[in-house]
Amino acid sequence: MAENGSLFELGIMARATWNLHSLNNEGTVGNVSEPRTVMLANGDKTDGISGEMLKHIHSYFMWMLESDKSHFCQACQNMHPQKADENPLVTGVQTDREISADKKPKVAMEKAIVSCTLCDLHGFLVQRPTISRSSTLEFGWVIGIPGNTHRDIHMHARHWMGGREVPEGGEEVTEEAPERVARKVAAQMIYHRPTRSGIYAVISVFQPWRIGLNEMDYHYVVGKNERKRRCELALEAYKATFAHPEGAMDTTRLPHIENFEGAIIISKTNFPAPVLSPLQDDYAEKARNLAEKMELEIVSFTNIEQFCDAITELKELQPWTLQMPTS
Ligand SMILES: [Zn+2]
Repeated sequence: MAENGSLFELGIMARATWNLHSLNNEGTVGNVSEPRTVMLANGDKTDGISGEMLKHIHSYFMWMLESDKSHFCQACQNMHPQKADENPLVTGVQTDREISADKKPKVAMEKAIVSCTLCDLHGFLVQRPTISRSSTLEFGWVIGIPGNTHRDIHMHARHWMGGREVPEGGEEVTEEAPERVARKVAAQMIYHRPTRSGIYAVISVFQPWRIGLNEMDYHYVVGKNERKRRCELALEAYKATFAHPEGAMDTTRLPHIENFEGAIIISKTNFPAPVLSPLQDDYAEKARNLAEKMELEIVSFTNIEQFCDAITELKELQPWTLQMPTS
């Protein structure tokens, strides 16, 4: 049963125009960093940024935007990737003799969700007791639209001014310790860095109805107001994610964000928000038709400012609540 003005799920579909970035790379071979390449259904190879990178950016901004870090577990306060697996309140359940073995997973899950906004929303894996929570936020690969991406590899040189020193008499020093010579060579280095520009297809789904929900018995372990606070934080983090994507190499390849346009499908009832790939040129029109047929709301945006306005409006909504029979 739906609550009035509640938010079940939302699906974001967008085309982002990002210039001269290097947000995600395959790795480094020698002194050359390789950009990510992905293959599409028709066999086209194109530029990509992994969903992991976008999810990481979003979780980082959730951490940053929360001024009271006591809303996070010990691990998440320091952005430790092991999250609940490093939360003593959760791992301590395993050795707590007051809790019977069959109840340990449910109790551990409850403690993890209650004690941390990030663990609740972004999910985690705990080894003992063995529990896992899937993220309430999902991100697809950011995919370069074929024909609309460009790549270049730029050569850079790191110079060591000390290398220019010539000793008195104009002769080079030849009796230096070998390790000192090696350090000089390492200090002066040539390396190759990729730079990419393009129009990218972006998809993401957010499931506010699952905030605070212990899926071991499908009961909420977090109160209504706290669920809304967590929902608002995740929505704010979406704004930061697309207004200022912080990925790899952004100290020298901060993306030039030229545009961000698309649509948000909003489900206020217990029906999953559909997402269509912006790889298709007519995705916005198809999404509108689909939303109409499914009786879902849709908001279009043509720039990052309108996207942020649409997200601000969603912050007014209370996360949808699952109703379970009382036994
Ligand atoms: Zn946590």
